[in-house]
Amino acid sequence: MAELRKIRVTKHPIAKDATELEQEKSEILKRYRALLRSCKPTMEKDDKKLIRLAFDTALNAHEGMRRRTGEPYIFHPLAVARIVTEEMGLGTTSVVGALLHDTVEDTNITLEDIEDRFGKTIAKIVDGLTKISGVFDQGNTSMQAENFRKVLLTLSDDVRVILIKIADRLHNMRTLEMMPRNKQLKIAGETAFIYAPLAHRLGFYAIKNELEDLAMKYTEPQAYQEITGKLHASKKEHDKFINDFTKPLIEEFKKQGFNFEIKGRPKSIHSIWEKMKRQQIPFEEVYDLFAIRIIIDTLPEKEKADCWRIYSIVTDYYVPNPDRLRDWISTPKANGYESLHTTVMSSSGKWVEVQIRTRRMDEIAEMGYAAHWKYKEGSAESALDEWVAKIRELLESPEGNALDFVDDFKLNLFSEEIFVFTPKGDLRTLPHGSTALDFAFDIHTDIGSRCIGAKVNHRLVPISHKLTSGDQIEIITSEKQYPKEDWLSIVVTAKAKGKIKDAVREHRKRLTDDGKEIFDKKLRQIKVVESSVNMNNVLLYYKVATTADLYYRVAMNVIDLHDLREALQFDPKTRKVNPRKAGLSFEELVKQVRGNNDALVIGEDIGKIAYKLSSCCKPIPGDDVFGFITSDEGIIIHRTNCPNAIKLMSNYAFRIVKAKWTGAKEIAFLTGVRITGVDDVGVVNHITKVISSELKVNMRSISIESTDGLFEGTIMLFVLDTKHLNTLMKRLRKLKGIMSVSRID
Ligand code: MN
Repeated sequence: MAELRKIRVTKHPIAKDATELEQEKSEILKRYRALLRSCKPTMEKDDKKLIRLAFDTALNAHEGMRRRTGEPYIFHPLAVARIVTEEMGLGTTSVVGALLHDTVEDTNITLEDIEDRFGKTIAKIVDGLTKISGVFDQGNTSMQAENFRKVLLTLSDDVRVILIKIADRLHNMRTLEMMPRNKQLKIAGETAFIYAPLAHRLGFYAIKNELEDLAMKYTEPQAYQEITGKLHASKKEHDKFINDFTKPLIEEFKKQGFNFEIKGRPKSIHSIWEKMKRQQIPFEEVYDLFAIRIIIDTLPEKEKADCWRIYSIVTDYYVPNPDRLRDWISTPKANGYESLHTTVMSSSGKWVEVQIRTRRMDEIAEMGYAAHWKYKEGSAESALDEWVAKIRELLESPEGNALDFVDDFKLNLFSEEIFVFTPKGDLRTLPHGSTALDFAFDIHTDIGSRCIGAKVNHRLVPISHKLTSGDQIEIITSEKQYPKEDWLSIVVTAKAKGKIKDAVREHRKRLTDDGKEIFDKKLRQIKVVESSVNMNNVLLYYKVATTADLYYRVAMNVIDLHDLREALQFDPKTRKVNPRKAGLSFEELVKQVRGNNDALVIGEDIGKIAYKLSSCCKPIPGDDVFGFITSDEGIIIHRTNCPNAIKLMSNYAFRIVKAKWTGAKEIAFLTGVRITGVDDVGVVNHITKVISSELKVNMRSISIESTDGLFEGTIMLFVLDTKHLNTLMKRLRKLKGIMSVSRID
């Protein structure tokens, strides 16, 4: 890794005395022997010699170089070689490649030297690793996912290059502690963004999880520490739970003569964190902190039948959730993963994921296709070739895979930058905090100027929606949209800010021209000669400061000129005001709301201004809302994520008013909650008890339907605000047998 090199390769940072150097020497040999031992099962006749030669070559080449930790540099290639054999199940060629992977780039050794000593294949691998390092590790620009894949493929005729590169990254991540913070962030971000998805794609689940966890340790240190701490603290309790859960199963498996192993595996820290964020729940509410894995030893021809027999036993004891059955035995995943997953309800009312698989499937799941060779006839190398061909196929196959690949990238972030994708999978880098509108302007000024909303990961969101890394964004535009001044508070990028300012000015100028035309036309209509017009009085009448302002409002339809005649006759001295109608007309309503620049305050302005809450999205205090001026019903308040809102904004943008909630009043709002769970005697009773007695919420209606032991209920109730609603939902989620509680949109 070149970017690490500058700091990593410090020559003799600390003077070592003779004993220390002696100790180091023996430690190097010890590690070399450990590598040899782990290669044993795959080793053929000349393999040992070749590995020795590679080790000696690397040792000499890196002589005197040290890692940032102060350790001899050779520790790194030795560790990478061990990952390659122990954790990826690769053979001698890869071990040799791993030992030599940094020599050409970092030392005086040339590619010709490598070819002379090790032949063409190894030389090509080392060459590929050197080039990849040059392209990825030195460049500061972020690669597009698709480009990354292409470059990887072109630079690596031999897929082993990619595998060694992953091993190299894994070791660098394991030893990232000594790096300065900014390097840590860059390397960790890249790892989460490129290497973990790649490992996942190639079926190296264990490595993928470790890369993600290590990346999170640096990008989100607080969350990482919190989750590790809590996992540690709750270990005893979990162990007991696993014991209780598996006890009856173990007895039954034994009775039926199975050879099996049961593991209670904690989920990766990263996946727990993802879940907490996705469902917005605290650690304590993540129910599947671990999965129970049942691994059976069985004959190849009985694999499938036996896995289903185990499934049958498990579900005799525990009720399964039919929605969560995954059969990857009948149809394995593209990367070779085979397993039977089900989620069952334990006797204490907790959902538990149970994974059922054979020993062979388990090894493939942990080590990817690499584990295949053990189960194939013939030599290890030919099986490896077959596997390598399979990976190439996987990476090269065109149909839909570019997008799949992008999907895998929905991962982590650098703290200052986020990575998002266009619908076609092009990657864009934006500063942290960027919104859908920033993205639109990043694509093109016209797209930004006409942006009325966006679909983020296929979900409709307002233009102010904040983006996160991995989002895929489709911008929705309308011919009628134009840039607004208040957009300036929505965007964070300088580009968008500049463009909005220009466009607002431009748009305003155009509208002012239009407005003047309308004004002049109206004058002609009522047969008034322009020179006789006292513009000052007209401005006073319409309460605007300048003629430009007047024309602008005319063009915007905020001022319609039906009373132009009165305006022309307006006398500022007598302050004779045009006799108004009682009740507010549409125009007056607009004027009134537009008049004070502040937002409409719901709950306070009631009485002063007529408004009501829309029935389509049923906003409650705390929701993001806006007001929409109608001609017959006053102002209607919608949630900003209401699908109607986008339609309204696109067609009638000028009728939109800002609105916010006041916290002062205790008004109850109607909203709906959907609950699903396991049908249990008295579940309705429990739910209603929580709602009405404990939280004193008024229910309007409740309907519950149950099928096959599961129920789905819809409850309409009155709440004060989102906080109130969230407390209620949180409380409901804690009830026994409840699987999900969500607000109805
Ligand atoms: Mn390296």
